[in-house]
Amino acid sequence: MDITQLPTPALIVDFDKMKNNLREMQQRIDALELKLRPHTKAHKNPAIAQMQIDAGAQGICTAKLGEAEVMAAGGINDILITTPIAGKNKIQRLVKLYQQYPDYRFIQVIDHQQHVIDIAQAATEAGICIELMIEVESGQQRCGVEIGNDLVSLIEAINYSDGVSYVGLQAYSGHLQHIKGYQERNTQARTVVEDLFNYINTVLKPKGLAPDIISGGGTGTYAAYQGLGFSEIQAGSYLFMDTTYQAIGDENNQDQNNQFDVALKVLSTVISHPTPQRAVIDAGMKCLSIDLGMPKVEGDSTLSYKTGGDEHGIINLLDGHEPLQIGQQLILLPSHCDTTLNNFDTLYAIRGTEVIEQFPILGRGRSD
Ligand code: PLP
Ligand code: MN
Repeated sequence: MDITQLPTPALIVDFDKMKNNLREMQQRIDALELKLRPHTKAHKNPAIAQMQIDAGAQGICTAKLGEAEVMAAGGINDILITTPIAGKNKIQRLVKLYQQYPDYRFIQVIDHQQHVIDIAQAATEAGICIELMIEVESGQQRCGVEIGNDLVSLIEAINYSDGVSYVGLQAYSGHLQHIKGYQERNTQARTVVEDLFNYINTVLKPKGLAPDIISGGGTGTYAAYQGLGFSEIQAGSYLFMDTTYQAIGDENNQDQNNQFDVALKVLSTVISHPTPQRAVIDAGMKCLSIDLGMPKVEGDSTLSYKTGGDEHGIINLLDGHEPLQIGQQLILLPSHCDTTLNNFDTLYAIRGTEVIEQFPILGRGRSD
């Protein structure tokens, strides 16, 4: 099938660029002598997760328990759930994952004594032991226990409780991922975790509480973590990229990140052209997320996108631009891959203009 036959708006990925990104990040992480545990909230599809594992990844991350259920059902057997869970429903579902897939590994991130109490109780009742990773504050001021006595108490609470075990620490500095300039970004990424590694070396290690796994890093910061003490990198967006990540700059001091190509795109159709300067496409906020800014029109910088609401995208044409054709397809480059992908049921893999494979976005909406 040719892309001109796809009903739009449609989510498409340049399959060769995606596979290059996949291989490239694995090679870069290998060269840093770290493990890659890719964040699959970017693609939400077990077959793509399996491609990452086949290329050398050490298991995967999911943001949420719902995504972990989808990935486990798809045969992915080593999953780190990077967001704390709370409440009976969630904890029972985590227990169920352990019971349903006894040979699989599920690690749950937590950051509070109450998590330990609740999860340990449910696990003990079920006769299982749940692996816990503690999220520590690393500059973002989101989740994460402060480094200090609270962290020691939390590790000790896990160690003293039946039904849970302490496997490591998560330190993810999400606020630094999009800083422009390679040096600046990576310097900040190292600086922000200095206290953590000092604390591990001077307090946790002498107490016998050193973490087995230290997990963190993203597409913007992975390169900062060589030799620091991190064991695995959680990057996710590198697979698809987006215009925000493209603008952060690379190690050759290019303004543009040339390490990874923008592979994820939205195919749309021109549905109206009320004036010579304004055309309208069928792709609005219900398919193209704008939390990180407007998408770009591929291949024509004299066309710019502005949101027209839920279902419409407004395309501004510079004076003198040839009119667009009603029914013509336009390709948009999203500003944020994760939130754009979650709007679609299917990802069409393309080579040139040919659709060569389809991936159902099975984890779509599974933020539960
Ligand atoms: N780890 C965590 C905890 C995250 O929240 C995210 C993304 O938001 C990632 C890893 C992946 O980072 P990126 O998509 O920037 O590569
Ligand atoms: Mn994101």
